[in-house]
Amino acid sequence: MSIKEKLLNIKKALPNQVTLVAVSKTKPLPDLQEAYDAGQRIFGENKIQEMVQKWEELPKDIEWHMIGHVQRNKVKYMAEFVSLIHGVDSLKLLTEINKQAAKHDRIIPCLLQIHIAQEETKFGLDEKELKELLNSDSFKTLKNIEVKGLMGMATFTDNKNQVKEEFGSLKNIFNNTKNILPNISVLSMGMSGDYTMAIEEGSTMVRIGSSIFGNRNYA
Ligand SMILES: *Cc1c(COP(=O)(O)O)cnc(C)c1O
Repeated sequence: MSIKEKLLNIKKALPNQVTLVAVSKTKPLPDLQEAYDAGQRIFGENKIQEMVQKWEELPKDIEWHMIGHVQRNKVKYMAEFVSLIHGVDSLKLLTEINKQAAKHDRIIPCLLQIHIAQEETKFGLDEKELKELLNSDSFKTLKNIEVKGLMGMATFTDNKNQVKEEFGSLKNIFNNTKNILPNISVLSMGMSGDYTMAIEEGSTMVRIGSSIFGNRNYA
């Protein structure tokens, strides 16, 4: 199947309220252009340098989402154009995003990443750290960021019950967070292997790469 066919099949199967982020990391420009020509306008990348290069080359109505772990010293390269930063996991990073957003006179939408997986290698805050961050005085002074919701990644495992539980726990944290931030609306969870279950558990945004663009070859 072509990229176009795979993309359209996935889109057809998604409920209306679920936003599709086409994860194009490591993929060449013609692959992204094919998805664009099939109507896709939201792309996800996990390396800032690569996202900047693709932003420069491709049509300007694309919304670029940063889904990877962000280093503070690189925020400045994407501050002008990034549409949503999914992986924000500290007040320090949020403060840097706020500073760079102010330089461009804009408000950068962000998601806070929550650690729901058992793997230690995955990033994110636990619920207590999340509350501390949101209730801190410094957070309240940040005028050039907007926290739109939460993001999480389940454990990479065949155990469906475990994945379901992890997504369920993130949905719970999301609901609890509305007590502090009533306007949050985005729950980013679900990738190629687990997005159906993520949607069952309340996801509003799925990040799908290999099921659209094929497997990635890492050098
Ligand atoms: C790569 C990546 C995805 C997409 O993974 P696939 O399994 O290829 O769909 C989703 N989210 C994050 C954070 C990623 O790094």
